[in-house]
Amino acid sequence: MTQTEEIEQNTFTFSNEENLATECNQCGILGTSNVFNTEIPGFKSITVIAFECEFCGYKRNEVPPAPESDMRSNGCKINSDFERRIVLSEQASLSIDAADLEIPPTTKFGVYNTVGGFIQRAIEDLEFNQPQRQKEPEFHSAISMVIQKLSKLLELNEPFEIQIEDPTGNSFIENLKYPSEDANLTAESVGGLEIPIN
Ligand SMILES: [Zn+2]
Repeated sequence: MTQTEEIEQNTFTFSNEENLATECNQCGILGTSNVFNTEIPGFKSITVIAFECEFCGYKRNEVPPAPESDMRSNGCKINSDFERRIVLSEQASLSIDAADLEIPPTTKFGVYNTVGGFIQRAIEDLEFNQPQRQKEPEFHSAISMVIQKLSKLLELNEPFEIQIEDPTGNSFIENLKYPSEDANLTAESVGGLEIPIN
């Protein structure tokens, strides 16, 4: 079986199920995954698995792996539009220099969220593991700084940059002015390809 066939089979399984009982990453109790499709203007329709744990309140929006796309939107920079949606494939890396945050492509699933929701999620994930980092005081305080800077980004509402690198072309930052040009969104050409950012 090729990788693409495997992915298509997985996607098919997901779109057939509306609600799945899934173990919570945070507390281990069974929560509910709601599977739906959503259209991102200027990008494509994506499948989202929205997990919610009724016990501890943990929430997460995942995007299952997809076949490589010809839509390239790597190296995007934006202002602080917290309602802007972002799609990160499982092979994307994301960085927010203003908060010294760098997320490498290590997760099994992609992410679908708003910019504000993504930052809030990152803060919660970093805070969750802070008690374990007490043994390494330097690491603990470095992560504390990142958490503080991320919280400040949400508070101050000032422009900052989010950069996404994704060799598969399956990541995207929403153009809020679509189909017009969005002045707060820029993209760099990758491998000589035109980037359909608008
Ligand atoms: Zn939970």
